[in-house]
This record gives sequence, structure tokens and C-alpha cells, in this order.
Amino acid sequence: MSKQNNPLRDPKNRSAATQMVHGGNNRTEFHETSEALFLNSGYSYPSSEHAELLFQNKIPGGHNYSRFANPTVDVFQERMALIEGAEAGRAFASGMAAVTNAVMSQVRAGDHIVAAQALFGGCRYVVEDYAPRFGVSSTLVDGRDPENFARAMQPNTRLVFVETPTNPTLELVDIKAVAEIAHAHGARLIVDNVFATALYQKPLELGADLVTYSATKHIDGQGRVLGGVVLGSRELIEGDIHTFLRQTGATLSAFNAWVLLKGLETYALRIERMTDSAEKVAAALASHPKVERVIYPHDPNHPQCDLARRQMSRGSTLLAIDVKGGQEGAFALSDNLAVILISNNLGDARSLITHPRTTTHARLTEEVRLETGVTPGLLRLSIGLEDPDDLIADLMYGLDQV
Ligand SMILES: *Cc1c(COP(=O)(O)O)cnc(C)c1O
Repeated sequence: MSKQNNPLRDPKNRSAATQMVHGGNNRTEFHETSEALFLNSGYSYPSSEHAELLFQNKIPGGHNYSRFANPTVDVFQERMALIEGAEAGRAFASGMAAVTNAVMSQVRAGDHIVAAQALFGGCRYVVEDYAPRFGVSSTLVDGRDPENFARAMQPNTRLVFVETPTNPTLELVDIKAVAEIAHAHGARLIVDNVFATALYQKPLELGADLVTYSATKHIDGQGRVLGGVVLGSRELIEGDIHTFLRQTGATLSAFNAWVLLKGLETYALRIERMTDSAEKVAAALASHPKVERVIYPHDPNHPQCDLARRQMSRGSTLLAIDVKGGQEGAFALSDNLAVILISNNLGDARSLITHPRTTTHARLTEEVRLETGVTPGLLRLSIGLEDPDDLIADLMYGLDQV
């Protein structure tokens, strides 16, 4: 017996919680415990021939410029791939850079995209406004019924893009059903998995081709840096995604990659605790007379609870509530909170509340907002790491002022 034969030497034999601490680590000659931070833009080569081979991609894992290869960013990409169960990943400067790359690297003029209409604001802009400027048309559908995707598919549909649960009303898209529809038409499926988190939903196992994250959210989860990541097969990631990143340059900085690696060390702990608290808060608000409805994916009253339980192992860290008294009621609640902060960010250690109608969804018309459930009384809550009893007491006080 020797250490060489220990099966846990192979990262594939380690569980996700172990990956979050060790995944992708590549120690230097100094054998540092924590990941080294490589704050360098370029690399020098031992010989001209070495440089030549490197530029011909003949030296695996070689580095020639930090726009597309940096050792600290490599560790982050590898760790995310191991957690997700993906063959490979690429990191980006923000979640929107990741989504824009994933979408635009898959289409060309004349192609068509089908997307769910309930999307994060920036994602909706990319599909609805940005792509059409380059001759890529799009159709937005109500994502709750997979049949709507089937009906919207055209011979030139190359891509289906969804987010599930959606922001801010936590509607679900049946990933497996939509993946089958996309593939039957020769299209690829991208899933923005921010709200569910890598802990509770595995889009690649359900048939998605690419998964995107805003690492700004639960992965950092402490309000420090922006970041994004795209995960999928080696073929797609090292092909289209890598080329687009390399040539257009929305690169994650090594410093931010290092901060995100620190975030991943406590990722599971934070999300599990925040989810426990989200369940408690949802239950406490459910019967409150000032609350019209509570929306939480694993709640039996959620209209898609069966799907939520099938496709997500837990309901995650976000919930939405519709407060009686419309916008006035929603503002009265938010403005009387002492612990929960008013902020449009999410997945943070601090609990955050936002009024989508007047902030993240203000750009949309009232008609579109109401179509996607963004009513005047709707508030989205991102539950953090505070004592859940304090969060409940804070919300109860706020609701008394409505
Ligand atoms: C925040 C978010 C994004 C964009 O990420 P940034 O890091 O802010 O650029 C995309 N999709 C979803 C679902 C998000 O919550």
C-alpha cells in the first residue's frame, strides 16, 4: 500500500464538499496550503521554440497571456467544473460576461434563440435586444410549460436559454423536458443556474449543454467581487467558449478568482445554513395577514412544487412575497427593517430585500412586468447568515407597519 494507490488522490473520487476546499489546487514549489495568487499579465519562455509550441497549443496547460490563461483563474475554473460535474469551465469578469459569451459564441446571423421570458434583466437584454442587432432573432415564451418551447422552435433555432428558478418570482422551467425539445431540434440548451445554486440543481445531468453562474452571488457570497463562469463539455468549453473569451477578453482577474476560491471553501456551509433559514422565514410569513402569498420552490403551495422537488434537491436561499397594499405596502415593509438591507444583490451573507418593480425590473413595461408576476406588492428576499429568529422578528416588525 502506498499513497500513490489511495483512490482519493483522483479528484473524481471526492465528494462535492471536499472539492470546494481542495478542487483544482495546483501547489507551487513552495507547497503553500492556500491557493497562490498569480498577479501577472504575461509569461516568459525558456526558448523561442517553447514559445512557438505554446502558441500552437502543443503544450497542455501552458500559459502565454493572462487574458485567457492564468494559474489562479485555472484553479477556480477547475474547482467549479469538479463541483458541477462538468468536463471543463471558463471564468469571466462578471455573470453577464459569462452569459453573453455563452449565448453569442453559439449563434451567428440568421440563427434564432428561444428563451423563457422570465429572465434576469441583463440576460433578457442580451437575448431580446442585443442578439437581434447582429441578425439573431429571438422568441420569448412563458417558461413554465415546456410545450411553449416546442411551439416556438424554428428550423434555424440554435439555442434555448433559460433560468430556473427565475428572478424574481421563482417560477420553474422543466430542464429535462426543455433539453429534450432543444436537442430534438438540433439546438443547444443553456441554463443560468444562479438561483438554484450548484449545490441543489445539476442542469448538465438533466440534459443542459452549458451552465452559467454569476459568481458574484453565492460563490463569493460576501459582497466583495464580481465574477462569472460557464461550464460544460470539454468540446464546447475549449472550443467556442474559450475562443470567444480569448478573443473578446471579458477575463476574470486573478485577484477576483482568488477571492472566489476563498468563497468556495465555505460555499456549501453558507448555502445550507441560508436555505435552512429561508425555509423558516417562508413558513413564518405564510400565514401573516399582511402577506398575500409567499413564493418558495419547495413550499407545497408553490404551483410547481412537484417539479421543484424533482429537479432541485432543496428550495435554495431566495423567496418572494406579495405584500398587501401594493407598492405602498412593500415600501412600508422594506423601510422599517433594521437587519435586512435594501439591495438588489443576492446570495450574500447579509439578508437583502428588493422591490423588483421599481429597481431590477423598472426597465420593462408594466404589461411585461405583470406577465412575469412582478406585481406592485412583490418583494424578493435573499436570506443570509444572520440568526433566522432575528430575520423573522425584523420582517414581523416591518409587516406591522404595512
Ligand atoms: C446576477 C445575475 C446575473 C448577472 O451576474 P453579474 O455578476 O451581476 O454580472 C445573471 N443571471 C442571474 C440569474 C443573476 O442573478
